[in-house]
Amino acid sequence: MSGTAPEAPLRFLLVPGLERLARNLRLAGFDSVLGAGAQGQGWIDQARDEFRVLLTPDAEWAARANGVRSQRVEAQDPAVQLRAVLERWGGLEAARSGLGFMSRCLECNSGMLPISRELARERVSAEIAEAHQEFFLCRRCERLTWKGAHWARMKRWLQEILRDRALDH
Ligand SMILES: [Zn+2]
Repeated sequence: MSGTAPEAPLRFLLVPGLERLARNLRLAGFDSVLGAGAQGQGWIDQARDEFRVLLTPDAEWAARANGVRSQRVEAQDPAVQLRAVLERWGGLEAARSGLGFMSRCLECNSGMLPISRELARERVSAEIAEAHQEFFLCRRCERLTWKGAHWARMKRWLQEILRDRALDH
């Protein structure tokens, strides 16, 4: 498929109840929002308007998403959920590249900006500021993260899920 025009980035809209999957998709770099409101046609309209794939655990909503790309997420296990969604929509390679890893705020989906240690120092303990090199700030909710043990643990978790199983024995 080389030489083809790049497709629009893969984006998702998840119905309430799939918050954890939304976080994990953001972790892998995918723009993922939760549908606003308690229920409704609004989710489907929003997915259509924003070119998002609708993800829902509900077969009825998946069926109603007429003309909108949708997937019923049946698995409960977070790793199985994430793998199933990325496999279905061709997101595995992008996720494996690692380019989007931690580029989005896990809480609010906004982009994370690299910030200096000096700026980070105003927000974290002196110990954390001294022990780490790279800090990132969410421009919307101001959540701060840094490349540390937690970061490495999440990266390992993600890599394990995304592993190319065709190479396994
Ligand atoms: Zn945020």
